[in-house]
Amino acid sequence: MKEFARGARAEGRVIGLVPTMGALHEGHTALVARARKECSRVIASVFVNPKQFGPKEDYKKYPRDLEKDAKTLEEAGVDVLFAPEAADIYPDGFRTYVNVEGISERLEGRSRPGHFRGVATVVLKLFEIVQPHFAYFGRKDAQQVRIISEMVRDLNLDSEIVVCPVVREADGLALSSRNAYLSAGERNAATVLHQALVTVRDELSRGVRDAMQLQTALRRILGAEPLAQVDYAEIVSADTFEPVVRVARPSYAVLAVFIGKTRLIDNLLIEPVSAGSEDLLFQL
Ligand code: AMP
Repeated sequence: MKEFARGARAEGRVIGLVPTMGALHEGHTALVARARKECSRVIASVFVNPKQFGPKEDYKKYPRDLEKDAKTLEEAGVDVLFAPEAADIYPDGFRTYVNVEGISERLEGRSRPGHFRGVATVVLKLFEIVQPHFAYFGRKDAQQVRIISEMVRDLNLDSEIVVCPVVREADGLALSSRNAYLSAGERNAATVLHQALVTVRDELSRGVRDAMQLQTALRRILGAEPLAQVDYAEIVSADTFEPVVRVARPSYAVLAVFIGKTRLIDNLLIEPVSAGSEDLLFQL
């Protein structure tokens, strides 16, 4: 992979990387489509990274179908599929990790200790192997992409992070490989995440800026769904992911909710129309 990437760079190609864990859906292919537009060589990785799963999480049962993924990527216009084995990425004796302090301990990091250390470490390794000019990530994992951007800045990496919008089902459910775990009843209940975020958006549109009031609205909607168990539901700064008191600067409404045994995340991006403006823009 390194040899190919070096060769492509030497030829003057613009290299785009789309890192994934496979079980691909339209959220992933949207990242590929964006990379295809902006790069002359598109490399997608499929690697279910053991270091980002906790001991009781779904590493073993995470959906894997490399053949199907390869076909999907080929149809989407990917030039190279990089699908290493865990032993290639983490040879015996592996013991060097990247930890983006502070932000990695909040929200997702609090519920999934070590998760972001695993993510940052594997992304740095992928960047070293592929040396992409651009790397494409989904805003669905807002905290992840914030942490990776921080790592890129702190470690002077040469790759530019491109953040892409969340791709959703017609009823608003964010596409996720983990949606495959949901039973029919759970699949119906899972729309509550989107509904809760829409409610917050509506409250903001009515002029509500108080974070506590917005959080109460989030939890009221989620609480009405018997199959939903809230892990976190907060209004946080888009910069630090620390809770805010009032929505003024770029913020997120962020959610992690168990639907049965399946843990789903989603978010609403809230930004002032222009710096300092009271008018807000929303992105679901
Ligand atoms: P994963 O395979 O879940 O690790 O995700 C690989 C990349 O696809 C990450 O950058 C995710 O944020 C992105 N992604 C996953 N689901 C979606 C979605 N519904 N919309 C946009 N991007 C997504």
